[in-house]
Order: sequence, then C-alpha cells, then structure tokens
Amino acid sequence: MSSNSAKVVLITGTSSGIGLEAAIAAARAGWTTVATLRDPKRADALRDAADRAGVTLDIRRLDVTEPASVAAAIEGVIADHGRLDALVNNAGAGHVGTIVNETVDDVRDVMEVNFFGVVEATKAALPHLRASGGRLISVTSIGGVVGQPFNEAYCAAKFAVEGFMEALAPVAARLGVAVSVVEPGAVATEFVNNIGIDPERLFAEAGDCAPLLESYVTRTMEQFSGAAQTPAQAAATVIEALTSEQPAFRLQTSDAARAFTAMKLADQDGSAVLGLTGAWLG
Ligand code: NAP
Repeated sequence: MSSNSAKVVLITGTSSGIGLEAAIAAARAGWTTVATLRDPKRADALRDAADRAGVTLDIRRLDVTEPASVAAAIEGVIADHGRLDALVNNAGAGHVGTIVNETVDDVRDVMEVNFFGVVEATKAALPHLRASGGRLISVTSIGGVVGQPFNEAYCAAKFAVEGFMEALAPVAARLGVAVSVVEPGAVATEFVNNIGIDPERLFAEAGDCAPLLESYVTRTMEQFSGAAQTPAQAAATVIEALTSEQPAFRLQTSDAARAFTAMKLADQDGSAVLGLTGAWLG
C-alpha cells in the first residue's frame, strides 16, 4: 500500500489529449494520479509530459472495452493505494457516419467504447467511491446535448452517458458520491486524427450523402483549426469538477460550449433537475 495519504484519482484514456493533460494537472494539484491507457506502448507522451511537469504518475493499463482490464486496474489501485477517491471517465473515440450508410453493428461499436466503457468503469469504481465519499466525473461532449449531423452514433453514446449520469446522480449523492459530466466543444487533440478518417474513402462510401458530408467535414475542420480549445484548457474543467467544494453536475469547458449547449439546456448546470429528482428520494 502507498504511504502517500493523498487522494487517489484514476483517469481513463491518458495517452493523449484531455486525459493526458488532466492526469498532469491532477498530479500537480497533489492527487495520487493513476493514469490509465489501453496500450502501454503509447505512454511516451504521457511520461514526457510528467517529466516536464516534474510530477509522478502511476501508469497502468486499462481498456474500457475489456471488463477484465477494468477490474484488474481498479483492484490494483485498491491493493497498492488502499483507496479510490475519484474516477474520471475520459476515454472515448469519435466517429463520423450516418445510419443511412452504416450498419447497426457500426453503431454498437461506437456505443461499446463511449457508453458501455463508461458504465464498466463506473460499476467497478463505485463501491470504492462510496467508501471514500468520492467523485465520479465523465467527459461527455457538447454532442451529448446537441445532436450533430454525421455523428448519430457518437452523439447517441454521449447522450446516453449524460442520461445515465443524471439518473445516477441523486442516488449517488445520497451514498456520498458526487457525479459530474464535463462537456467540451472542439478541442485540438488527436481526437479527429484518431477517428482515422480517409476523406476520399468516406466520401466515396457516402453515396448521395457525399455533398452533405463534404460540407459537414469542411465546417468541422474549420472549427478545429480556428476556435478549438487546447487540451489543457479543457482539462482545467475536469480539475474543477475534481477539486471544487461542490461541483456542478454539468460543466461546459468554454464560453463557446456554454453558448452552444444553452440552445438546448434550460438547466445548464443540472441543479434544477437534481434538486427535483433528489427530492423524490425523501
Ligand atoms: P484523444 O486525444 O483521441 O484521446 C482519447 C483517449 O481515449 C486516448 O487516450 C485513447 O487511447 C483513449 N481510448 C480510446 N479507446 C479506448 C479504450 N477502448 N479504452 C481506453 N482508452 C481508450 O481525444 P480527446 O479529445 O482527448 O478525448 C477525450 C474525451 O473528450 C473523449 O471522451 C472525447 O469523446 C471527449 N471530447 C473530445 C472533444 C474534442 O474535440 N477533442 C470534444 C468533445 C468531447 P489510444 O491512444 O489508445 O487510442
């Protein structure tokens, strides 16, 4: 067991982007930080960032689509550190496509990583978060509030995480666990590259949707090259959910994300809904 009495946070998907920056920032903030990734061979950027920041990370393997690896990582944390104070469900993968052209199995694959991966890690961590009076934080997206063209499966998965967490939050609060979702807009990470889009193939496979898809991809690329946040900026909101005394249920990572989600959200921080549904529990 660790002799360090600092609080322990486990973050999924820390090989790059928001997860990597959140791991560095959590360690800087004094947390014992368990930075997990699905492929330990892809830990170089994380290690380099930790060296540059002068922080120590506990790097472990965790693939959110492999229940055994989720269980092993969390059991390992409890064995070595004796506690778990926060889980950050950050791992996720983008997807561009439409059911007009793709299969139901394509949609299932997107749900597997972006929704069931979150459920898997949450289920494994929850008993330990109850024991510590901890925090459960999930990185969703503005696409978890506003459905966007050619993102049906991805948005559905992020909507699902938002609904799951909003439903869990009042019960978890009674068990001593604070639940938050963090909604980034465009963030300049490997997210778009990791989708592995080959535009020519994508347009060729899009059939009569190709002109619509081209417009969408052009606009999205402009968003990412122009107004995107840095991953460190988005990670700062994760750290706010981790460290602020009474974190909101729903936090957007930027003014642009707040303005965008305001189109749909009458209850932008989630306090009105949770005030109501929490009261149903007596
Ligand atoms: P990123 O740089 O691509 O990071 C995604 C991370 O998730 C990577 O570390 C990736 O690992 C990991 N991952 C993917 N599948 C996994 C699996 N099965 N098990 C464990 N880890 C897995 O992109 P990012 O922008 O930082 O994304 C972080 C979160 O922010 C995601 O949930 C994403 O949906 C959300 N988000 C991003 C944006 C944006 O514009 N970037 C906007 C809204 C929301 P590998 O390196 O092994 O692939």
